[in-house]
Amino acid sequence: MNDFQSAELPVEQRLALHEGLLVWLEWQARNERNLIRRLRSDAATEQQRREVAHRGLGFTVEADRAGLTWTVHRGDCGFATSDDVVDAPEARAALSRPDGEAARPCEVCNPLAALRDVPPPTDPWASA
Ligand SMILES: [Zn+2]
Repeated sequence: MNDFQSAELPVEQRLALHEGLLVWLEWQARNERNLIRRLRSDAATEQQRREVAHRGLGFTVEADRAGLTWTVHRGDCGFATSDDVVDAPEARAALSRPDGEAARPCEVCNPLAALRDVPPPTDPWASA
Protein backbone atom coordinates (compact mmCIF):
# COMPACT_ATOMS: atom_id res chain seq x y z
CA MET A 1 0.00 0.00 0.00
CA ASN A 2 1.41 3.37 -0.91
CA ASP A 3 0.79 6.59 1.01
CA PHE A 4 -1.62 7.81 -1.67
CA GLN A 5 -4.03 4.96 -0.81
CA SER A 6 -4.00 5.83 2.91
CA ALA A 7 -4.00 9.61 2.37
CA GLU A 8 -7.53 10.12 3.73
CA LEU A 9 -6.64 8.43 7.07
CA PRO A 10 -5.46 10.49 10.07
CA VAL A 11 -1.65 10.80 10.21
CA GLU A 12 -1.35 8.52 13.30
CA GLN A 13 -3.19 5.72 11.51
CA ARG A 14 -1.10 6.23 8.36
CA LEU A 15 2.06 6.04 10.47
CA ALA A 16 0.89 2.83 12.21
CA LEU A 17 -0.13 1.33 8.87
CA HIS A 18 3.26 1.96 7.27
CA GLU A 19 5.19 0.84 10.34
CA GLY A 20 3.23 -2.41 10.23
CA LEU A 21 3.89 -2.72 6.52
CA LEU A 22 7.63 -2.20 7.11
CA VAL A 23 7.67 -4.91 9.83
CA TRP A 24 5.93 -7.30 7.43
CA LEU A 25 8.31 -6.46 4.56
CA GLU A 26 11.35 -7.02 6.80
CA TRP A 27 9.91 -10.37 7.94
CA GLN A 28 9.24 -11.32 4.32
CA ALA A 29 12.81 -10.33 3.31
CA ARG A 30 14.25 -12.49 6.13
CA ASN A 31 12.11 -15.42 4.96
CA GLU A 32 13.30 -14.98 1.37
CA ARG A 33 16.96 -14.76 2.47
CA ASN A 34 16.56 -17.98 4.48
CA LEU A 35 14.84 -19.71 1.56
CA ILE A 36 17.54 -18.58 -0.88
CA ARG A 37 20.28 -19.78 1.50
CA ARG A 38 18.54 -23.18 1.83
CA LEU A 39 18.03 -23.49 -1.95
CA ARG A 40 21.70 -22.61 -2.62
CA SER A 41 22.75 -25.29 -0.15
CA ASP A 42 20.38 -27.82 -1.78
CA ALA A 43 21.73 -26.93 -5.24
CA ALA A 44 25.34 -27.41 -4.04
CA THR A 45 24.45 -30.77 -2.48
CA GLU A 46 22.70 -31.88 -5.69
CA GLN A 47 25.68 -30.80 -7.80
CA GLN A 48 28.03 -32.74 -5.52
CA ARG A 49 25.76 -35.81 -5.71
CA ARG A 50 25.76 -35.62 -9.54
CA GLU A 51 29.55 -35.36 -9.62
CA VAL A 52 29.95 -38.37 -7.31
CA ALA A 53 27.45 -40.38 -9.38
CA HIS A 54 29.24 -39.42 -12.61
CA ARG A 55 32.59 -40.35 -11.12
CA GLY A 56 31.21 -43.69 -9.91
CA LEU A 57 30.26 -44.60 -13.51
CA GLY A 58 33.77 -43.93 -14.82
CA PHE A 59 37.28 -45.24 -14.28
CA THR A 60 40.72 -43.84 -13.64
CA VAL A 61 43.98 -45.03 -15.16
CA GLU A 62 46.87 -44.17 -12.89
CA ALA A 63 50.61 -44.69 -13.06
CA ASP A 64 52.53 -45.72 -9.97
CA ARG A 65 55.01 -43.25 -8.47
CA ALA A 66 57.83 -44.44 -10.70
CA GLY A 67 55.58 -44.32 -13.78
CA LEU A 68 56.45 -47.94 -14.61
CA THR A 69 53.10 -49.65 -14.06
CA TRP A 70 49.52 -48.56 -14.52
CA THR A 71 46.40 -49.43 -12.56
CA VAL A 72 42.77 -49.09 -13.59
CA HIS A 73 40.35 -48.18 -10.78
CA ARG A 74 36.64 -47.58 -10.68
CA GLY A 75 36.11 -43.82 -10.57
CA ASP A 76 34.91 -43.92 -6.97
CA CYS A 77 37.65 -46.27 -5.65
CA GLY A 78 39.16 -45.01 -2.42
CA PHE A 79 42.63 -45.91 -3.71
CA ALA A 80 42.26 -43.82 -6.86
CA THR A 81 44.10 -40.53 -6.54
CA SER A 82 43.47 -39.05 -9.98
CA ASP A 83 40.57 -36.73 -10.71
CA ASP A 84 40.73 -37.61 -14.41
CA VAL A 85 37.78 -39.91 -15.03
CA VAL A 86 37.79 -41.90 -18.27
CA ASP A 87 35.02 -43.94 -19.87
CA ALA A 88 34.83 -47.73 -20.21
CA PRO A 89 36.44 -47.93 -23.69
CA GLU A 90 39.47 -45.98 -22.47
CA ALA A 91 39.76 -48.20 -19.38
CA ARG A 92 39.51 -51.32 -21.57
CA ALA A 93 42.15 -49.90 -23.92
CA ALA A 94 44.52 -49.34 -20.98
CA LEU A 95 43.97 -52.93 -19.78
CA SER A 96 44.60 -54.38 -23.23
CA ARG A 97 47.77 -52.49 -24.12
CA PRO A 98 50.63 -54.68 -25.38
CA ASP A 99 52.50 -56.78 -22.79
CA GLY A 100 54.58 -54.75 -20.40
CA GLU A 101 52.49 -51.63 -20.98
CA ALA A 102 49.10 -53.03 -20.01
CA ALA A 103 47.48 -51.57 -16.94
CA ARG A 104 46.43 -54.01 -14.24
CA PRO A 105 42.99 -53.89 -12.61
CA CYS A 106 42.88 -52.66 -9.03
CA GLU A 107 42.45 -55.63 -6.70
CA VAL A 108 40.38 -53.58 -4.27
CA CYS A 109 37.67 -52.11 -6.49
CA ASN A 110 37.79 -54.76 -9.26
CA PRO A 111 36.99 -52.58 -12.28
CA LEU A 112 36.71 -55.70 -14.48
CA ALA A 113 33.33 -56.51 -12.93
CA ALA A 114 32.08 -53.03 -13.79
CA LEU A 115 33.57 -53.20 -17.28
CA ARG A 116 31.65 -56.42 -17.94
CA ASP A 117 28.40 -54.56 -17.22
CA VAL A 118 29.26 -51.77 -19.63
CA PRO A 119 28.67 -52.98 -23.18
CA PRO A 120 31.64 -52.49 -25.52
CA PRO A 121 31.23 -49.77 -28.12
CA THR A 122 29.62 -50.89 -31.34
CA ASP A 123 31.73 -50.71 -34.44
CA PRO A 124 29.78 -48.67 -37.00
CA TRP A 125 31.82 -50.27 -39.83
CA ALA A 126 31.19 -53.87 -38.79
CA SER A 127 28.76 -55.79 -40.98
CA ALA A 128 25.76 -57.21 -39.20
ZN1 LIG B 1 40.70 -49.33 -7.05
